[in-house]
Amino acid sequence: MSGLVEGKAAIVTGAGQGIGLAIATVLREHGAKVALVDLDGDRVKQAAADLGGDVLALTCDVTDEQAVDRVVREAVEEFGGLDVHVNNAGITRDASLRKMSADDFDEVVNVHLRGTWLGVRAASAVMRDAGHGSIVNISSLSGKSGNPGQTNYSAAKAGIVGLTKAAAKEVAHKGVRINAVQPGLIRTAMTEAMPPDVFAEREAAIPMKRAGEPAEVAGAVLFLASELSSYMTGAVLEVGGGRLM
Ligand code: NAD
Repeated sequence: MSGLVEGKAAIVTGAGQGIGLAIATVLREHGAKVALVDLDGDRVKQAAADLGGDVLALTCDVTDEQAVDRVVREAVEEFGGLDVHVNNAGITRDASLRKMSADDFDEVVNVHLRGTWLGVRAASAVMRDAGHGSIVNISSLSGKSGNPGQTNYSAAKAGIVGLTKAAAKEVAHKGVRINAVQPGLIRTAMTEAMPPDVFAEREAAIPMKRAGEPAEVAGAVLFLASELSSYMTGAVLEVGGGRLM
Protein backbone atom coordinates (compact mmCIF):
# COMPACT_ATOMS: atom_id res chain seq x y z
CA MET A 1 0.00 0.00 0.00
CA SER A 2 1.43 3.43 -0.83
CA GLY A 3 0.37 7.07 -0.63
CA LEU A 4 -1.52 6.80 2.69
CA VAL A 5 -0.60 10.40 3.54
CA GLU A 6 -0.19 11.72 0.00
CA GLY A 7 0.29 15.50 -0.09
CA LYS A 8 -0.09 15.92 3.66
CA ALA A 9 2.24 18.16 5.67
CA ALA A 10 3.85 16.57 8.70
CA ILE A 11 6.19 17.46 11.56
CA VAL A 12 8.16 14.80 13.44
CA THR A 13 10.18 15.73 16.53
CA GLY A 14 13.31 13.82 17.50
CA ALA A 15 13.59 12.87 13.83
CA GLY A 16 17.39 12.90 13.63
CA GLN A 17 17.68 9.18 14.33
CA GLY A 18 15.93 6.10 15.70
CA ILE A 19 12.15 5.87 15.83
CA GLY A 20 11.62 9.52 14.79
CA LEU A 21 13.72 9.06 11.66
CA ALA A 22 11.81 5.85 10.83
CA ILE A 23 8.52 7.75 11.22
CA ALA A 24 9.72 10.60 8.99
CA THR A 25 10.91 8.06 6.43
CA VAL A 26 7.63 6.14 6.23
CA LEU A 27 5.58 9.36 6.07
CA ARG A 28 7.82 10.49 3.16
CA GLU A 29 7.44 7.12 1.44
CA HIS A 30 3.68 7.53 1.70
CA GLY A 31 3.72 10.95 0.04
CA ALA A 32 3.90 13.44 2.92
CA LYS A 33 6.01 16.58 3.07
CA VAL A 34 7.92 16.25 6.32
CA ALA A 35 9.62 18.70 8.69
CA LEU A 36 12.27 16.85 10.67
CA VAL A 37 12.84 18.51 14.03
CA ASP A 38 15.69 17.70 16.41
CA LEU A 39 17.88 19.21 19.09
CA ASP A 40 20.94 18.00 17.17
CA GLY A 41 21.16 20.34 14.16
CA ASP A 42 23.87 18.46 12.25
CA ARG A 43 22.13 15.12 12.69
CA VAL A 44 18.76 16.40 11.52
CA LYS A 45 20.27 18.15 8.47
CA GLN A 46 22.00 14.91 7.46
CA ALA A 47 18.80 12.90 8.00
CA ALA A 48 16.81 15.35 5.86
CA ALA A 49 19.47 15.33 3.12
CA ASP A 50 19.33 11.52 3.05
CA LEU A 51 15.54 11.55 2.72
CA GLY A 52 15.54 14.16 -0.05
CA GLY A 53 12.45 15.69 -1.67
CA ASP A 54 9.88 17.71 0.25
CA VAL A 55 11.63 17.81 3.60
CA LEU A 56 12.69 20.51 6.03
CA ALA A 57 15.36 20.19 8.71
CA LEU A 58 14.63 22.32 11.77
CA THR A 59 16.74 22.57 14.90
CA CYS A 60 14.68 22.93 18.06
CA ASP A 61 14.61 21.98 21.71
CA VAL A 62 11.07 20.72 22.33
CA THR A 63 11.11 22.12 25.86
CA ASP A 64 11.54 25.66 24.50
CA GLU A 65 8.12 27.28 24.11
CA GLN A 66 9.17 29.88 21.52
CA ALA A 67 11.20 27.35 19.54
CA VAL A 68 8.28 24.89 19.29
CA ASP A 69 5.90 27.63 18.17
CA ARG A 70 8.54 28.74 15.63
CA VAL A 71 9.02 25.31 14.03
CA VAL A 72 5.26 24.83 13.69
CA ARG A 73 5.02 28.30 12.08
CA GLU A 74 7.93 27.57 9.72
CA ALA A 75 6.49 24.22 8.63
CA VAL A 76 3.07 25.77 8.01
CA GLU A 77 4.65 28.60 5.97
CA GLU A 78 6.77 26.20 3.93
CA PHE A 79 4.14 23.49 3.36
CA GLY A 80 0.99 25.63 3.39
CA GLY A 81 -0.60 23.84 6.35
CA LEU A 82 -0.16 21.11 8.93
CA ASP A 83 -1.97 17.76 8.78
CA VAL A 84 0.19 15.51 10.96
CA HIS A 85 2.28 16.24 14.04
CA VAL A 86 4.29 13.55 15.83
CA ASN A 87 5.71 14.25 19.30
CA ASN A 88 8.52 11.71 19.45
CA ALA A 89 11.61 13.47 20.91
CA GLY A 90 12.77 11.78 24.07
CA ILE A 91 15.61 11.04 26.46
CA THR A 92 16.35 8.69 29.34
CA ARG A 93 18.25 9.39 32.57
CA ASP A 94 17.90 5.98 34.23
CA ALA A 95 18.85 5.44 37.87
CA SER A 96 17.40 3.81 40.95
CA LEU A 97 15.42 6.00 43.32
CA ARG A 98 18.43 6.00 45.63
CA LYS A 99 20.67 7.42 42.91
CA MET A 100 18.36 9.55 40.75
CA SER A 101 18.80 13.29 41.18
CA ALA A 102 15.96 15.79 41.05
CA ASP A 103 17.63 17.17 37.91
CA ASP A 104 17.40 13.72 36.25
CA PHE A 105 13.70 13.71 37.09
CA ASP A 106 13.04 17.26 35.87
CA GLU A 107 14.99 16.81 32.64
CA VAL A 108 13.10 13.68 31.60
CA VAL A 109 9.69 15.02 32.58
CA ASN A 110 10.46 18.27 30.77
CA VAL A 111 11.44 16.71 27.45
CA HIS A 112 8.61 14.18 27.36
CA LEU A 113 5.72 15.93 29.07
CA ARG A 114 6.37 19.64 28.59
CA GLY A 115 7.76 18.92 25.10
CA THR A 116 4.71 16.91 24.08
CA TRP A 117 2.33 19.42 25.63
CA LEU A 118 3.97 22.32 23.77
CA GLY A 119 3.78 20.35 20.52
CA VAL A 120 0.14 19.41 21.06
CA ARG A 121 -0.78 23.00 21.89
CA ALA A 122 0.97 24.52 18.88
CA ALA A 123 -0.10 21.89 16.34
CA SER A 124 -3.72 21.63 17.51
CA ALA A 125 -4.10 25.42 17.26
CA VAL A 126 -3.30 25.26 13.54
CA MET A 127 -5.33 22.09 12.97
CA ARG A 128 -8.51 23.23 14.71
CA ASP A 129 -8.57 26.36 12.52
CA ALA A 130 -8.18 24.12 9.45
CA GLY A 131 -10.85 21.72 10.74
CA HIS A 132 -8.71 18.61 10.49
CA GLY A 133 -5.45 17.03 11.59
CA SER A 134 -3.85 14.10 13.39
CA ILE A 135 -1.43 14.31 16.30
CA VAL A 136 0.47 11.25 17.49
CA ASN A 137 2.31 11.21 20.81
CA ILE A 138 4.99 8.62 21.52
CA SER A 139 4.52 7.19 25.00
CA SER A 140 6.06 3.86 26.11
CA LEU A 141 5.00 0.57 27.65
CA SER A 142 7.18 1.78 30.52
CA GLY A 143 4.38 4.25 31.25
CA LYS A 144 1.90 1.37 31.51
CA SER A 145 3.93 -1.11 33.52
CA GLY A 146 6.53 1.03 35.28
CA ASN A 147 10.17 0.02 34.78
CA PRO A 148 12.55 -0.11 37.74
CA GLY A 149 15.28 2.51 37.25
CA GLN A 150 12.86 4.65 35.25
CA THR A 151 10.66 6.40 37.81
CA ASN A 152 11.18 9.65 35.89
CA TYR A 153 10.59 8.14 32.43
CA SER A 154 7.63 5.95 33.45
CA ALA A 155 5.94 8.95 35.10
CA ALA A 156 6.48 11.09 32.01
CA LYS A 157 5.28 8.39 29.60
CA ALA A 158 2.14 7.70 31.69
CA GLY A 159 1.57 11.45 31.75
CA ILE A 160 1.61 11.53 27.96
CA VAL A 161 -1.38 9.15 27.98
CA GLY A 162 -3.41 11.49 30.21
CA LEU A 163 -2.40 14.49 28.14
CA THR A 164 -3.36 12.68 24.93
CA LYS A 165 -6.83 11.78 26.21
CA ALA A 166 -7.60 15.21 27.70
CA ALA A 167 -6.43 17.03 24.56
CA ALA A 168 -8.29 14.55 22.31
CA LYS A 169 -11.54 15.37 24.12
CA GLU A 170 -10.95 19.11 23.73
CA VAL A 171 -10.43 19.12 19.99
CA ALA A 172 -12.36 16.09 18.69
CA HIS A 173 -15.35 18.24 17.65
CA LYS A 174 -12.96 20.40 15.59
CA GLY A 175 -11.89 17.46 13.43
CA VAL A 176 -8.54 17.00 15.18
CA ARG A 177 -7.59 13.50 16.37
CA ILE A 178 -4.92 12.88 19.01
CA ASN A 179 -3.66 9.37 19.73
CA ALA A 180 -0.67 7.77 21.43
CA VAL A 181 1.66 4.87 20.65
CA GLN A 182 3.36 2.82 23.37
CA PRO A 183 6.41 1.04 21.94
CA GLY A 184 7.97 -1.79 23.90
CA LEU A 185 11.63 -2.68 23.55
CA ILE A 186 12.83 -1.20 20.24
CA ARG A 187 16.33 -1.46 18.84
CA THR A 188 17.72 2.13 18.79
CA ALA A 189 20.59 4.15 20.29
CA MET A 190 18.40 4.63 23.38
CA THR A 191 18.21 0.89 24.11
CA GLU A 192 21.77 0.18 22.91
CA ALA A 193 22.79 2.19 25.98
CA MET A 194 21.28 -0.55 28.20
CA PRO A 195 23.59 -3.19 29.72
CA PRO A 196 23.51 -6.18 27.32
CA ASP A 197 22.32 -8.60 30.02
CA VAL A 198 19.35 -6.33 30.88
CA PHE A 199 18.50 -6.03 27.18
CA ALA A 200 18.65 -9.81 26.74
CA GLU A 201 16.49 -10.38 29.84
CA ARG A 202 13.85 -7.91 28.59
CA GLU A 203 13.92 -9.47 25.12
CA ALA A 204 13.42 -12.98 26.54
CA ALA A 205 10.27 -11.80 28.37
CA ILE A 206 8.61 -10.67 25.12
CA PRO A 207 6.11 -13.23 23.72
CA MET A 208 7.46 -12.62 20.18
CA LYS A 209 10.96 -13.25 21.58
CA ARG A 210 12.63 -10.29 19.92
CA ALA A 211 13.03 -6.52 20.20
CA GLY A 212 11.13 -4.43 17.67
CA GLU A 213 12.57 -2.35 14.86
CA PRO A 214 11.94 1.44 14.55
CA ALA A 215 10.01 0.84 11.30
CA GLU A 216 7.54 -1.36 13.20
CA VAL A 217 6.64 1.59 15.46
CA ALA A 218 6.53 3.88 12.42
CA GLY A 219 3.87 1.62 10.85
CA ALA A 220 1.49 2.26 13.76
CA VAL A 221 2.18 6.00 13.56
CA LEU A 222 1.47 5.99 9.80
CA PHE A 223 -1.86 4.29 10.48
CA LEU A 224 -2.82 6.92 13.09
CA ALA A 225 -1.62 9.74 10.82
CA SER A 226 -3.67 8.47 7.89
CA GLU A 227 -7.40 8.38 7.19
CA LEU A 228 -7.37 4.63 7.89
CA SER A 229 -7.82 5.63 11.55
CA SER A 230 -10.42 8.35 10.86
CA TYR A 231 -12.73 7.25 13.73
CA MET A 232 -9.97 6.89 16.34
CA THR A 233 -9.04 9.50 18.90
CA GLY A 234 -7.68 9.29 22.45
CA ALA A 235 -6.51 5.75 21.69
CA VAL A 236 -3.28 4.16 22.88
CA LEU A 237 -1.74 1.60 20.53
CA GLU A 238 0.75 -0.85 22.04
CA VAL A 239 3.61 -1.90 19.77
CA GLY A 240 5.45 -4.34 21.98
CA GLY A 241 5.51 -7.82 20.45
CA GLY A 242 2.85 -8.93 22.93
CA ARG A 243 4.60 -7.60 26.02
CA LEU A 244 2.21 -6.52 28.83
CA MET A 245 -1.02 -7.30 27.01
P1 NAD B 1 16.92 8.07 20.22
O1 NAD B 1 17.73 8.47 21.40
O2 NAD B 1 17.52 7.14 19.22
O3 NAD B 1 16.41 9.37 19.45
C1 NAD B 1 15.82 10.44 20.12
C2 NAD B 1 15.99 11.71 19.30
O4 NAD B 1 15.35 12.78 20.03
C3 NAD B 1 17.46 12.13 19.12
O5 NAD B 1 17.72 12.44 17.76
C4 NAD B 1 17.62 13.35 20.02
O6 NAD B 1 18.56 14.30 19.55
C5 NAD B 1 16.20 13.92 20.02
N1 NAD B 1 15.94 14.75 21.19
C6 NAD B 1 16.26 14.49 22.48
N2 NAD B 1 15.90 15.52 23.26
C7 NAD B 1 15.36 16.47 22.45
C8 NAD B 1 14.82 17.77 22.67
N3 NAD B 1 14.78 18.31 23.90
N4 NAD B 1 14.33 18.44 21.61
C9 NAD B 1 14.38 17.92 20.38
N5 NAD B 1 14.90 16.70 20.09
C10 NAD B 1 15.38 15.99 21.13
O7 NAD B 1 15.57 7.47 20.86
P2 NAD B 1 14.47 6.48 20.23
O8 NAD B 1 14.69 5.15 20.83
O9 NAD B 1 14.36 6.66 18.76
O10 NAD B 1 13.17 7.07 20.95
C11 NAD B 1 12.21 7.89 20.29
C12 NAD B 1 10.97 7.99 21.18
O11 NAD B 1 10.44 6.69 21.40
C13 NAD B 1 11.25 8.57 22.56
O12 NAD B 1 10.17 9.37 22.98
C14 NAD B 1 11.35 7.34 23.42
O13 NAD B 1 11.09 7.62 24.76
C15 NAD B 1 10.29 6.46 22.78
N6 NAD B 1 10.42 5.04 23.08
C16 NAD B 1 11.56 4.35 22.72
C17 NAD B 1 11.63 2.99 23.01
C18 NAD B 1 12.83 2.16 22.66
O14 NAD B 1 12.87 0.98 23.07
N7 NAD B 1 13.79 2.66 21.91
C19 NAD B 1 10.57 2.36 23.66
C20 NAD B 1 9.45 3.09 24.01
C21 NAD B 1 9.38 4.44 23.69
